[in-house]
Amino acid sequence: AKEEGRNTTRFFSPQMQARVQAHAEMEAALRQALDEGVFQLFYQPQFCRDGKLVGAEALARWPVEGGRMVSPADFIPVAEDTGLIVPLGGWVLDTACRQLAAWQAQPGTRTLSLAVNVSARQFHQPDFVLQVTSAMQRHGIMPSALKLELTESVILGDIDETVARMAQLRTLGVRFSLDDFGTGYSSLSYLRRLPLDQIKIDQSFVRDMLDNAGSETIVLAILGMSRSLGLEVIAEGVETEAQHAFLLEHGCQRFQGYLLGKPLPLAAWPAHWLDSCAG
Ligand code: C2E
Ligand code: CA
Ligand code: CA
Ligand code: CA
Repeated sequence: AKEEGRNTTRFFSPQMQARVQAHAEMEAALRQALDEGVFQLFYQPQFCRDGKLVGAEALARWPVEGGRMVSPADFIPVAEDTGLIVPLGGWVLDTACRQLAAWQAQPGTRTLSLAVNVSARQFHQPDFVLQVTSAMQRHGIMPSALKLELTESVILGDIDETVARMAQLRTLGVRFSLDDFGTGYSSLSYLRRLPLDQIKIDQSFVRDMLDNAGSETIVLAILGMSRSLGLEVIAEGVETEAQHAFLLEHGCQRFQGYLLGKPLPLAAWPAHWLDSCAG
């Protein structure tokens, strides 16, 4: 309107207002979903160089009316903003440890590992170490089978605190993977300081590496660097045979992606995945 001249300050534009409202509605719905325990975990398989199953990544799913799933890409950021990632992440950890206990009780699946995503806000909770150790104890699992996936956002805060916390858990046997590697801003000197077991090449580089010289260079650099640092390397987002072959050729050790298997509820896993497990 004409009255709203250049100097009128409106706090929210209609678009912003809609976004704020959507955020508030999602927060309320998330809270209710947590109370009602409707979240699910899907499991995406991870394979080694000779094609055997070595583990899985646990990925949260939020089923809503009509059989639809809200994507974690939509609800995880809201859960992080509101702090609901703390109880949600606690549920994910507990559920993952329960699944590990079931695998460890079976001769054919004893060696499988399970990767769990941990948000910065969850990792920096004062009782995070206790949360992890009590989940492991509650289910009586071998800690070395649990792999915590951290993104570079976790180390943006206090690097000394981060290293100390990781070291504490690593002493217990828990493993760490650096997720979405190459997309953040952390320097290589940080990488050297972090007590890591694995680096995960981000899917954006895997997607482009065969058509884009820059992505190819990054992938090769990550593979070379991981080798010299003695870190295991896994590629995510492997969608084609050509990508798989290229990564194999250049020494990548672990593979995850739609080519090999999409995230699924465990009950929907094809039998041959578990049959291929080393034991
Ligand atoms: P992420 O940790 O990078 O997980 C990989 C994402 O890539 C997953 O999306 C997975 O389904 C998808 N993906 C796997 N293979 C392929 C492929 O070959 N091609 C393509 N295009 N995509 C592939 P998803 O399950 O939608 O999860 C999205 C993000 O949400 C995750 O990204 C992670 O950052 C977050 N997230 C999921 N579950 C949790 C959780 O329990 N806790 C926390 N903190 N974050 C979670
Ligand atoms: Ca991940
Ligand atoms: Ca990732
Ligand atoms: Ca990602």
